[in-house]
Amino acid sequence: MQTRNTKQRGLVLDAVRARCDHPSADDIYIDVRRLDPKISRGTVYRNLSVLADAGEIMHVRVPAADRYDLRTEKHYHMFCLRCGRVADAPIPYRDELDEGAAAATGFTVGRHRTIFEGVCPECREKEGR
Ligand code: ZN
Ligand code: MN
Repeated sequence: MQTRNTKQRGLVLDAVRARCDHPSADDIYIDVRRLDPKISRGTVYRNLSVLADAGEIMHVRVPAADRYDLRTEKHYHMFCLRCGRVADAPIPYRDELDEGAAAATGFTVGRHRTIFEGVCPECREKEGR
C-alpha cells in the first residue's frame, strides 16, 4: 500500500511534469492543493527538493527565485527581467566548455548552468520596441 508520503511525492512530481513553464514552488503548491487540500506548503517544498536531488526533476535558479523543470537533461534557460518568465534556450549544450574547464583546473566537471537574461518578445511588444 502506498504511504501518504509516497502519494504526496507522486502528486508533486505529476504537478511538475504537467507544466512546461518552469513553475515556482508556490505554483506547484497551488496545483497540488487542488488535488490534496490538506497538503502543507512545507511538504510540497520538501518534496520538490527531494525530487530534484534524485534527478527526477531539475532545479533552476534564476534571479530571486527557484524554479522547477520537468526536463532533466542539460540545457540552458532564458530569463525575462521584466516578467520573470523562464523558457528553454533552443541552442545545443556545449560539452566542450565542461571539458575545457576540467582540463584547466583539474576538477571533474559534471555540467555548467547558464541563464541568459534579457527581455522576452511579449514584454518587448508591450514596451513598443
Ligand atoms: Zn517578459
Ligand atoms: Mn528548462
